[in-house]
Amino acid sequence: MSDPARQRVSLGTRSYDILVGDGLLAAAGQHIAPVLRAPRVIIVTDANVAALHLAALERSLADAHVDYDAVVLPPGEQTKDFAHLEKLIARLLDMKVERGTTLVALGGGVIGDLTGFAAAVVLRGIDFVQVPTTLLAQVDSSVGGKTGINTTHGKNLVGSFHQPRLVLADTGVLSSLPRRQLLAGYAEVVKYGAIDRPEFFTWLEGHGMALIDGDTRARQHAVIESCAAKAEIVAADERETGRRALLNLGHTFGHALEAETGYTDELLHGEAVAIGMVMAFDLSARLNLCPPEDAARLRRHLAAVGLTTSLQQMQGRIWNPRTLVAHMARDKKVSGGRTTFVLARGIGQAFLSDAVDPVDVEALFTDSLAA
Ligand code: NAD
Repeated sequence: MSDPARQRVSLGTRSYDILVGDGLLAAAGQHIAPVLRAPRVIIVTDANVAALHLAALERSLADAHVDYDAVVLPPGEQTKDFAHLEKLIARLLDMKVERGTTLVALGGGVIGDLTGFAAAVVLRGIDFVQVPTTLLAQVDSSVGGKTGINTTHGKNLVGSFHQPRLVLADTGVLSSLPRRQLLAGYAEVVKYGAIDRPEFFTWLEGHGMALIDGDTRARQHAVIESCAAKAEIVAADERETGRRALLNLGHTFGHALEAETGYTDELLHGEAVAIGMVMAFDLSARLNLCPPEDAARLRRHLAAVGLTTSLQQMQGRIWNPRTLVAHMARDKKVSGGRTTFVLARGIGQAFLSDAVDPVDVEALFTDSLAA
């Protein structure tokens, strides 16, 4: 393959590269070897990904003279919990993990978040490398160092900031990803355009469908552009004391929907974000902050690629606006009792607001369910 594209995440001594390329997995070993403290890694993956892509990674590590073991976990969001963290750490200790050992997360956001958190706490912290295999993980969860697990109180409530040493995104592995998962990840791609990259949004309007249908160059461009957007925001605000919260566009609404559907396959995270972004833009328009045409434009594009854009489209589910608002009040982003919303003045002009009246949010839910 040709040289991969390289995007730096600038965080002082914790800086690292994101490499993006088609077929990169076959050369992963040669890129991983230089960042290792010792020539030994433990790969953590899930059973779906192991069946499809583990052998290629292992071969490339062997070619680069890196010793490896692998831990294969069950696929799915349920794996991101205390019980699996405990099992994973026990396996790592059984395998005689040392301070110089590096964990390699091969999988989607579930594997990346769990492995990153295990790396943050085992032996008081060891290195890890992200090899994301879903679109969502390639454009979002593998970059920026947020790691963690879910608890019975909610999603991602226990975790740590722990930056990877390297991110290797092979866009070729996306061809084995189910279309529904690809679409869910695409919502996070659109998010970057909607936050502060209006030209990228326009590019997506022209190329999004081709990307979803398998156009390799379009996939690479979208992953590179998304990683550049995320790297810039993370470098400016690693611990989310300000600007990084813009990345939560659509998430405050989305998390309420996910909480209501119990974080099940009924609604994937990216699907919830797509509906949530439309609601954030609709709310902005209702508050006269954003032209209604921009809210309509966002909805149109998400719908055009096949994403659900409203609560009503979800068959067989009865939503209660008051319960949804109550879920929002329990979100991690609540501070001093107020929820921080990401609103927009237009496509590419997102901003933070803690001045939203819950009455307006409940009215939005009620009206959109009645529409
Ligand atoms: P996931 O990890 O569950 O992967 C989705 C499904 O696709 C799984 O069944 C998996 O086995 C399968 N899969 C993965 N790669 C595949 C491939 N190449 N071919 C075929 N099947 C493949 O889900 P996800 O959407 O990648 O990640 C969701 C998680 O990411 C959530 O837990 C969310 O909280 C987290 N997240 C974290 C951050 C962050 O900044 N850390 C950001 C966004 C989301």
